[in-house]
Amino acid sequence: MKKSPYPAQDLRRRAMAWAVRLKVNPRVVRVQEMRRKWGSCTASGTVTLALDLLDRDKRFQDYVIVHELLHLRFARHGRMFKALLSAHVPGWREYELSSREI
Ligand SMILES: [Zn+2]
Repeated sequence: MKKSPYPAQDLRRRAMAWAVRLKVNPRVVRVQEMRRKWGSCTASGTVTLALDLLDRDKRFQDYVIVHELLHLRFARHGRMFKALLSAHVPGWREYELSSREI
């Protein structure tokens, strides 16, 4: 696939497509430099994704995106949260020990 001149836009678009699939409605999705996290989600609906996710494979990007978007529905990493994560990103547990928290 040809490399896009606007990779951060592609990541945002990917997150928006996931939002539709997950039936959540983030207020803002932004991509910016984050040093200690891969992503975050605020109670007011702002989802932030780390710019260097672009260096990781697509499945890992999906894991972080789906994880943060699910926080719009579930504050905690409870049973439903994990069940939905498994439904949409099978095998996500192999990423759980990644060096940064999300
Ligand atoms: Zn989380």
